[in-house]
Amino acid sequence: MLEKVTAPEEHLNFRVGTDRKLADWPEIVEYFKKVDDESNRVKVEVLGESTLGNPFLLAVISSPENLQRLEEYRKIQLRLSNPKDLSDEEAKDLIERGKTICMISCSIHSTEVGGSQMSMELLYKLASEESEDVNEVLDKVIFLFVPSLNPDGNRIVVDWYEKYLGTEYEGSGPPYVYHEYAGHDNNRDWYMFNLKETQLTVEHIHNKWHPQIVYDIHQMGQDGPRFFVPPFTDPYEPNIDPVILGGVNFMGTSMADALNRDGKAGVVTHWIFDAWTPARAYQHYHGGIRILSEAASVDIASPIELSPEQLEARRGYNPRETRWNHPLPWKGGRWTLRDIIDYELVASWACLQTAAKFRKRWLRGTYEMGKRSLKPGKPYAFVIPSNQRDLGAVKELLWVLKMGDVEIHRAKESFEVEGVVYPEDSYVVILNQPYGGFAQTLLEKQVYPDLRETKDAPPIVPYDVTAHTLGLQLGVDVVKVESELDTKFERVDEFQIPKGEIYDEGKPYYIFSCVPNYSVKAANKLLFEGYYLARTLESQEVIGQVFKPGAYIVEAKPGIEEHLENLSELGIDFYGMDNPVEEYLDIEKPRVAIYRAWLPNADEGWLRQVLEEYTFEYENLSPQDVKAGDWVDRFDVLIIPDLTDDILVKGMEGQRWLYPKKYERKYREGVGEEGTREILRFLDNGGTVVTLNRASEYAVKSLWAGVELILDGLDEKEFYCPGSILRVIVDDTHPIGFGYSREEAIMFLNSPAFNIKEGTPVAWYPEASPLLSGWILGERHLRGSTAVAEIPAGNGTIIMMGCPPHFRNQMRSTFKLLFNSLFYATT
Ligand SMILES: [Zn+2]
Repeated sequence: MLEKVTAPEEHLNFRVGTDRKLADWPEIVEYFKKVDDESNRVKVEVLGESTLGNPFLLAVISSPENLQRLEEYRKIQLRLSNPKDLSDEEAKDLIERGKTICMISCSIHSTEVGGSQMSMELLYKLASEESEDVNEVLDKVIFLFVPSLNPDGNRIVVDWYEKYLGTEYEGSGPPYVYHEYAGHDNNRDWYMFNLKETQLTVEHIHNKWHPQIVYDIHQMGQDGPRFFVPPFTDPYEPNIDPVILGGVNFMGTSMADALNRDGKAGVVTHWIFDAWTPARAYQHYHGGIRILSEAASVDIASPIELSPEQLEARRGYNPRETRWNHPLPWKGGRWTLRDIIDYELVASWACLQTAAKFRKRWLRGTYEMGKRSLKPGKPYAFVIPSNQRDLGAVKELLWVLKMGDVEIHRAKESFEVEGVVYPEDSYVVILNQPYGGFAQTLLEKQVYPDLRETKDAPPIVPYDVTAHTLGLQLGVDVVKVESELDTKFERVDEFQIPKGEIYDEGKPYYIFSCVPNYSVKAANKLLFEGYYLARTLESQEVIGQVFKPGAYIVEAKPGIEEHLENLSELGIDFYGMDNPVEEYLDIEKPRVAIYRAWLPNADEGWLRQVLEEYTFEYENLSPQDVKAGDWVDRFDVLIIPDLTDDILVKGMEGQRWLYPKKYERKYREGVGEEGTREILRFLDNGGTVVTLNRASEYAVKSLWAGVELILDGLDEKEFYCPGSILRVIVDDTHPIGFGYSREEAIMFLNSPAFNIKEGTPVAWYPEASPLLSGWILGERHLRGSTAVAEIPAGNGTIIMMGCPPHFRNQMRSTFKLLFNSLFYATT
């Protein structure tokens, strides 16, 4: 007998999806907990805390009998995922007994409010309804339900929305990021795991259950189709198992079919969304299909009205045409939050029914993929040699693989393969293992397919970046091996950086290398403790150890050994020295300002995360702060994150995705001429401005940097490079290039390239092809041009980065370009 379950409407005092009404996160959490108390079909767990300390929830929903035996079903699922020594007979039995594991997650993008609001109605249906359909789902499916993948964002968006409700600004989204660090990029974190929310989901849901179905609920723009579900378009990333591809198509089509049957118009499949980057698709390499739905948005919770003429056609979809992937056009009219929720309920229910009715298809798929993953293939393995320049980066790379459920081995002796000898303790990732595909896609170089029919056609735009090679992003050597290895290995699960040593203790100075990223943490700690620090300008040899230019020198004071001892945990060696070097630059704790536009700018958020991780202190400056000018004497360096010149100067008027009229005046502003004057005054006072990626355009157009932007005016047919990893040559004797090797990798995404008239190049493109991973058209345009430059400006300096140096906290090999610039600004 079921107790009475509280309906969402009773809990909230309004019907979910009512115009202009939103439940906030505490109300949603309270509702889920209430239903947990009232129903024996629901178990709610708090998996941990979000970035800003909100509870992160998982509801496990199934029949009361299944909920009693969750551990048994979980083991069946894991056994089928990794069917080593499992016979077909045993597998058949497990498939007979197992359940479909289906996960649905909502509103990772917090302005896309529909999912989280809908979650309460879906929960209620499953907890309260007595029907054949519901019982079938409860009996055959273990449903893992995440009502929000970004609880912080729910609160940020609901607060903002309610603040302006009933005013002329009603219905806008916040003019700042809805995830503290990642903003809209929070669903691009599924292989680097930088965010707490990603970590909680991967550790406690994905890796624990390896669900066969993972459905993530989103919204898109207002004037396209009403709803998108897969199939996705090409390209699919090549390491995705065919059972996944088939499953995505099968499930997506089934959901679209249910929407059509229900008369839900304007549903499109096989449209603009591709399946290339693992940054959005952890499950594609872990036995699960990725289903994405995108509903047309309203103004947060305020309804909109669209005439038929306002509906826009785009790439393979015309709102006025019936096509195989768009059987029932929507004619325009009123569109409300309730419409979004109704579509999402139909789609979610179809997903759960398809999970239940085809239970054996999903379990059998898990087994077939598992079997295939265990067969040795080509390549056979990747080797990560133990002798690397940055052991902290090696540890980070191994940590990523480990988080991705990849088995890692270490060689107990040196070994030779394909004519190369690798030292003892080298790491080896043998690919025939359950999640070897995840390892392979991250460790190999991407060859993004050019899908154009003719070479004269414009490029077909990828949905996201085209390269994700981890070794290049972390500056770690990774070697692909085709043939089987013959050596002794041990499995390793913990990765420590070998502790550094302190040589020649008691000397008046110590020197340490600037090559590893973590050396910056050491330098910051010593500066924070009040030690005097300098960087060498030339190579330096101390006790037989050669230090590249830029090595850090610290003047000893009593008690320093204790600090060095602690810092050696970062894998840094410290060498005692008698005399200071002759050529050096004094450095200080940099006083850093970060420009923060009134726009949700993910690049600015990631920048804050990276600087915090490396213990730099900073202050944010809004356009109004910049104009006020009183900051000019307080900072050494102003970092301008990736933004166009138009946005920097004009603010919201300089962009096209937010409607300026929906914001109070202050949020519309950019720095304007007034702010630019203050930035020029800052430069005149000897300050340093670092312009990241597109912001370099501002340096040229508004700060008069003596630089020509050589890609300006080229159309996409002439030059195109949508998020690829490119090779540059670095001057490692320049203080911005300290610690680098001659050839390095950078991320190129909407990036400028420079022809310098006045200034010094720090990094530049080679004469040969710069492409290391991804896709590029018209690469000859980059030949010999500058990627990173130091430009004199007044008594100060502009450092122009023709790349996003901290891109999504993934492109970590270029962190030092940024960190070096901050220290250099204090010299
Ligand atoms: Zn979204």
